[in-house]
Amino acid sequence: MIITIRSQATSEERAQLMALLCRITGSQHPITTTKMGRREVIVLDDNRIDAQAQDALSQQSAIDRLTNVKTPYQLVSRVFQAESTNIVIGNAHTCNPVTIGGAVPVIIAGPCAVEDREQLLTTAHAVKQAGAQILRGGAFKPRTSPYQFQGLGVEGLHLLAEAREATGLPVITEVMEPNLVDTVAEHADILQIGSRNMQNFPLLLAAGRHSRKRPVMLKRGLSATIDEWLLAAEYILAAGNPNVILCERGIRSYDPQTRNVLDLSCVPLLHELTHLPIVVDPSHATGRRELVPTMSRASIAAGAQGLIIEVHPDPNVALCDGRQSITPEQLQKIVRETRVLARMMSDEGSLSHVA
Ligand code: PEP
Ligand code: MN
Repeated sequence: MIITIRSQATSEERAQLMALLCRITGSQHPITTTKMGRREVIVLDDNRIDAQAQDALSQQSAIDRLTNVKTPYQLVSRVFQAESTNIVIGNAHTCNPVTIGGAVPVIIAGPCAVEDREQLLTTAHAVKQAGAQILRGGAFKPRTSPYQFQGLGVEGLHLLAEAREATGLPVITEVMEPNLVDTVAEHADILQIGSRNMQNFPLLLAAGRHSRKRPVMLKRGLSATIDEWLLAAEYILAAGNPNVILCERGIRSYDPQTRNVLDLSCVPLLHELTHLPIVVDPSHATGRRELVPTMSRASIAAGAQGLIIEVHPDPNVALCDGRQSITPEQLQKIVRETRVLARMMSDEGSLSHVA
């Protein structure tokens, strides 16, 4: 259950509510509130709220609204917030800000890993030219083998910041450790939490609590259920950061023909369950560059509000994930197709509205 506190509640009204909540929950500690944009909310464990408690709460003048969400995830639920969340990426002082969550799909593109200055700057200019609005690039790489290229670390963050300055594109990069959240947030416009870390709870909390409140792109765990994924997102919101983007990147199956299985049915399903924006990563989902254009179109048709695509000027020599990386020319075609599809879908939407 979610309690939304009335913004004009007096300190007496708030104190009365907090005292009641301590009685209901048996808590010895002060009740913590969470900021959701302009709203201030308290999330309660449903098991502790019986009919009598609900009755007592409904009479509290400090409360604007009581929401019975009825799912384990609460703040991310569409029941709590009917309107879709739009997230502004980037700060106008340092780049061209972009909004994720609306009808216009956002294209995020760039190399799997930041390899060196020339590779990153060449790719950044090329993806911008191809129509991408956000630059991706891994500085800290979660690699399956300890002998593979692990990324440039902090040096990679500096190169990403340089690429942003050179192109105006906001940048996204992965953070793997809670104690690096502040450092990554200093340089990046979006924090990426990778598939392998979807349930790294200290990392989720750190991404929720950090002071810059950078938007977080939370990739689906290698074999996570939708509920586990939404609960992982809930950690970030509950810790105080409402700006979470979900990213479907395929789930593990038994067939080695593709790297993963792209679960596109999760896109319309998530739109029902949550107000958070959803993007698809057709590169990691398939692991094969020849499948990326088709699955990009399919993702947009399914309702994805963005794509994150691995692009390399020369995929065959990429230090990481070259097999699934496309060229800037191939990206340009995907961007064009995406725009046509999105336009078609919004025309269709207005027509069905009339019908
Ligand atoms: C990535 O996007 O660089 C990455 C490692 O992806 P994932 O976490 O989805 O495997
Ligand atoms: Mn990759």
